[in-house]
Amino acid sequence: MVDHLAARPSKGTVLLYAVQTRAYKRWLKGQPKIAQNWLKSLKRRGTAGELSTIPDRNGALSRAVLVYDEPTPWVFASAAAKLPAARYQLDGDLSAAAAGDAALGWALATRRFDRYKSSNRRHPTLVWPEQADREHVERLFRATVLGRDLITTPAEDMGPAELVDAGVQLAKQCGAKTSVIVGDALLDKGYPAVHAVGRAAARAPRLLDLTWGDPNAPKLSVVGKGVCFDSGGLDLKSAAGMKLMKKDMGGAATALALASLVMESELPVRLRVLIPAVENAVSGNALRPGDVIDTRKGLSVEIGNTDAEGRLIMSDCLTEASSESPDQLIDFATLTGAARVALGTELPALFSTDDAFAAAVLEGGLSTHDPLWRMPLHRPYRRHLDSTIADLNNIANVGQGGAITAALFLSEFVAKGTNWSHVDTMAYYTGSRPGRPAGGEVFGIRAFYDALAARYAPEPDTEAETD
Ligand SMILES: [Zn+2]
Repeated sequence: MVDHLAARPSKGTVLLYAVQTRAYKRWLKGQPKIAQNWLKSLKRRGTAGELSTIPDRNGALSRAVLVYDEPTPWVFASAAAKLPAARYQLDGDLSAAAAGDAALGWALATRRFDRYKSSNRRHPTLVWPEQADREHVERLFRATVLGRDLITTPAEDMGPAELVDAGVQLAKQCGAKTSVIVGDALLDKGYPAVHAVGRAAARAPRLLDLTWGDPNAPKLSVVGKGVCFDSGGLDLKSAAGMKLMKKDMGGAATALALASLVMESELPVRLRVLIPAVENAVSGNALRPGDVIDTRKGLSVEIGNTDAEGRLIMSDCLTEASSESPDQLIDFATLTGAARVALGTELPALFSTDDAFAAAVLEGGLSTHDPLWRMPLHRPYRRHLDSTIADLNNIANVGQGGAITAALFLSEFVAKGTNWSHVDTMAYYTGSRPGRPAGGEVFGIRAFYDALAARYAPEPDTEAETD
């Protein structure tokens, strides 16, 4: 059930024509004279993004027309944000995927995060387009909202315990099993790096371990960075650098959102999700620059900077996840500013040891309007992580290529031969657009889901005999 999407038309439902730019002239010719004259008077030319309402003879809202080039969710989100509150039904030549994107964009544009501020703004409603895969759109919507809300919620209300609880709740809804390791128990259970990063905070560090599905199915493992607030530790961030750091658990939120898609659509996999949840805080027992810490893998790490903490908590989880030889291992992390310098805030960097799977993710990103961009695991840069007193340093000794050296750091903890993909993501919109309000975003979940569905639950061959 999604607000502002209705099962059927009601009395007074307004037709919303969705017209591609190249079909606009032909469409206009088929309209009644009054509509043609009205659009002419508004100087509409049929350019992409044009949205017009058309009155009837009494001046009442009668029709609307949306012109588009490519039918992305955001085209329809923009219409939903601008149209007056009424019930609309799409009329246009949309594929099943485009109709689904229309519904998803509409749903996201008319949804508000209202935990701290209510709104009584009235939104338009869309009748579910017939061609849309309604259940899939609803799953995408729920997963997106789940992830966005976790990220947008301030650190005060989204600490390590609350983040892990969100994972436990999701597991309950989907019939998954969970175990949670809290505080000093992390040391006994062999997660020293997670403990070292989180030990200074008043809120204890913890690890969520979720498993779901048939134990004999191919293993899919997902790890998400859950730094609920990142002050930078003793190498404290600047005010500007710290401002958005409630979003430093965006990788964990993305992992949970993807997990929700996988479980709700019952992909035939054995899913495992590991979420290290910590707050990188300052106190007398905080990790210091120059300290050397132990890791689950047994590699010693010199702390060059306490603000490169995400890769530390990820390292223990990647060691554990890859120890059971998963078919695919995926991690999401708000890891480096360098990835944003290279690709901006809305194009996550994808690193992968599996060329075929990476290609499928990029392809899925294009078809679901959820793009990523691949970057190289350039081995020669590994030397920049050398330490004189430990197996490696947690920061590179050069200022360039930071997203790559961070990925190379993680790769040290992934078992050789593992099909591993790493996503370095912003997980946040700094400005608001229809369907994409300022706040958390789970970039990549549609792209990855598309690639995973193709791998584990391929569509039956349409060429196959039908009798
Ligand atoms: Zn940090």
